[in-house]
Amino acid sequence: MRITLRLVSVSLLAGWLAACSEPPKDPEVVVYTSRKDHLIRPVFDLYTQETGVKVRYTTDDDGALITRLAAEGNNSPADLLITVDAGNLWQATEQGLFQPVDSEVLTTNVPANLRDVDNRWFGQTVRARTLVYSPDRVQPEELSSYEALAEPAWKGRLCLRTSKKVYNQSLVATMIERHGEEKAEAIVRGWVDNLATDVFSNDTALIEAIAAGQCDVGIVNTYYFGRLIAEKPDLPVALFWANQDSSGVHINISGVGLTAHAPNRDQAIKLMEWMSTAAPQQLLAEQNMEYPVNPAVQPTGVVTAWGEFRGDDLNVAVAGKRQVEAVKLMDRAGYR
Ligand code: FE
Repeated sequence: MRITLRLVSVSLLAGWLAACSEPPKDPEVVVYTSRKDHLIRPVFDLYTQETGVKVRYTTDDDGALITRLAAEGNNSPADLLITVDAGNLWQATEQGLFQPVDSEVLTTNVPANLRDVDNRWFGQTVRARTLVYSPDRVQPEELSSYEALAEPAWKGRLCLRTSKKVYNQSLVATMIERHGEEKAEAIVRGWVDNLATDVFSNDTALIEAIAAGQCDVGIVNTYYFGRLIAEKPDLPVALFWANQDSSGVHINISGVGLTAHAPNRDQAIKLMEWMSTAAPQQLLAEQNMEYPVNPAVQPTGVVTAWGEFRGDDLNVAVAGKRQVEAVKLMDRAGYR
């Protein structure tokens, strides 16, 4: 009996000693991200260099990551979800996948229209969707707004990407918010009437169609323009900042939310905060020819050559809220 007790107490003591001497777990943050590896890796590497905190991340499509996070529930290892397009952040929020973050750093660095009203997600970079045109066939004075592309002057001269892409759904969603459904539908019908050719499956093909003389004007995200111009500097296509006398250029974001069950909550918030500061903002934006979300941080790289623009100040959440209406409207208007 005595021997057994002694054995038990010896093993208890050994266990206690082991627990005490076990090194503390290295701090880390786990991220699910739809940003491509080459865009996000330099940013996380810099963070680890500066803080010693490891960032483990998984990249996949927005939809796949949201589905995975929902399926994993409170067993998910993920602390943060980084996606492109406010529509996706809105979807994740609707599914209860995020928790609010009360951070003065984030509310200072991220403008109110580029984050959730309840602080469940925050923009990280801004992407601009604006007009591209043929400088050979169009004078910039002839251009003004997305809405004006519905006018008869553009009959047979407009190129559009498919309405199936969330980018155009978001643009139409903001037009519904601003003009009401009836007027927005009339504008979209005008676009469809003015199409020079079938809709395109991507922005790059659209820009090339303008260069090839298939149409004179279109609507694209500026980073596609930037990538193509980097390859073909003499491409006869130019950018025009839309709606500078009205609502401003249509913008969207890439952004981040803290997951509802984040195992490394405090470390994750520190990473979110850090990503809203100057060096990572510039790194993130420049890699994909986007713009820093933090207005105190200057854009860098090729985008500076395109000049400054005023962006739409509607909350980007509208893209999510009105997405279903936008899809239905485009369908009614015959926009495929
Ligand atoms: Fe894109």
